[in-house]
Amino acid sequence: MTPAAISFDCANTLVETHWDYAVHGMNCARTIGLSPTDDWEAAYRRRFLRSLPEFRWANLGGDPKRVTAFWRAFTADWVEEVGLPTAVTEALLSASDEVLYGPQATEFRVYEDVMPTLEALRERGVRLAVLSNWDQSLERVLEARGLRAFLEVVVASLVIGVEKPSPAIFETLLTALDLPPGAVWHVGDNPLDDVQGARGAGLRGLLIDRDHRDPSDWVLTDLRQLLDRIQ
Ligand SMILES: [Mg+2]
Repeated sequence: MTPAAISFDCANTLVETHWDYAVHGMNCARTIGLSPTDDWEAAYRRRFLRSLPEFRWANLGGDPKRVTAFWRAFTADWVEEVGLPTAVTEALLSASDEVLYGPQATEFRVYEDVMPTLEALRERGVRLAVLSNWDQSLERVLEARGLRAFLEVVVASLVIGVEKPSPAIFETLLTALDLPPGAVWHVGDNPLDDVQGARGAGLRGLLIDRDHRDPSDWVLTDLRQLLDRIQ
């Protein structure tokens, strides 16, 4: 059976990701020539956890200006807390952009089976989407990694305020694609969020587990195996 559309999770499905906000913050500090201490990192982490409600609010609705304002205020407060000069705030914000989206960006790496799979699926007329528990930066990350052009629909949980495995996020995807659940497959690396979540909303859910030895009817060990499934 050929689905009309296939949706993919992003982190550790399309893009290898070891994301941690505080580690990223310290990487940015190093990029501008600072030497972050453990105390700086701990302060960043504590402050970010405390700011999660504001961060979530800033992401809702997809207005990038609100997210930028959040990070500017957050970074300025952290800079003050650890006793750095105020000018460091803007330098850190620019460094963050460069670290995440610049030509030397290393924090997100596209798996080697992704491009050939997306190209082949597109050739076969399968519509493609990404559905991810991610913040508003999802579109930009996909763009910077050369994936956005393949995708008709991109759904980021923090933008709509609902996370996988809730059926509501899968329903947002189906509405955007204007397809019934039976016409859409979802592939991801998390058995609960991706596989059970998709199934709970009536989609076919497939697990990608690149460390697994053998594929099965619902486990892929390489994304290219999707191409054999849709004959
Ligand atoms: Mg994932």
